[in-house]
Amino acid sequence: MANYKDYMLFDKLPHTWCGGCGHGIILQAIASALAQQELDKHEIALVSGIGCFGRVDDYLNINCMHVTHGRALAAATGVALANPNLHVLVTMGDGDGSTIGGNHLIHCARRNINLTAIIANNYNYGQTGGQYSATTPRGSITATSVYGHVEPGFDICKLVEAAGAPFVARSTAYNPMQIRSLIKQGMQTKGFALIEIMDTCPTHYGRLNKMGNSAQMLEAVNDMTVPVEKAASMTPKELEGKFLTGVLVNKPREDYYTRYQQIIDRLVKQA
Ligand code: SF4
Repeated sequence: MANYKDYMLFDKLPHTWCGGCGHGIILQAIASALAQQELDKHEIALVSGIGCFGRVDDYLNINCMHVTHGRALAAATGVALANPNLHVLVTMGDGDGSTIGGNHLIHCARRNINLTAIIANNYNYGQTGGQYSATTPRGSITATSVYGHVEPGFDICKLVEAAGAPFVARSTAYNPMQIRSLIKQGMQTKGFALIEIMDTCPTHYGRLNKMGNSAQMLEAVNDMTVPVEKAASMTPKELEGKFLTGVLVNKPREDYYTRYQQIIDRLVKQA
């Protein structure tokens, strides 16, 4: 039986993340998800964007590609189409994946590219000093919204659902076992899968918004969420300000590569 340690590069530790950052929890959950599926490392390709969370590829002993800011999904689209037998994972933060790379996110979902996108959402650009991103909630304090953020934040899961993603799920850094399970389900989906993980940045967002220490911040993130099964029996008033967790969308449909291959097969037959 494979162990998560088989997919890690322990000689690269200690990691460069701040003490109390949630990213390490997600890193271990990714390695565990690979181990539980007993995947051959040569069948996995991970594409990572720029940002604190993008550094997960430094610690994984699999094929990784670290690309330019906001373009991880564009690069991963090329990888997935060039070799449809690969399990393609894409790791991004909310700044990289939904702000600078927001356009790629909606088009990957619309095209149904066969890959698993993992977005760690900590509501800010941590690596560059805590500036607001497209998910930063209205009214919250960041390095670029010192009097309270003016804009409302994106709901990443609703965004990709509306764009046609066949598998959409959400968890929190508070719940690594659920993260692991959702990543596995996403990887077993043929088509675009999005796993959003509500994460913590105690150094910037947590400090500026007085969310306490990193443990208290994790608890606060957990308190914002409701399991999707429980939400079914709650009123809209009770659900105000809450994020649903679990599998939010599971509607398989033909992926881009399959449809493209059908056209090629048809043209070859006609030739
Ligand atoms: Fe984590 Fe924030 Fe530190 Fe980046 S700046 S490593 S997101 S705590």
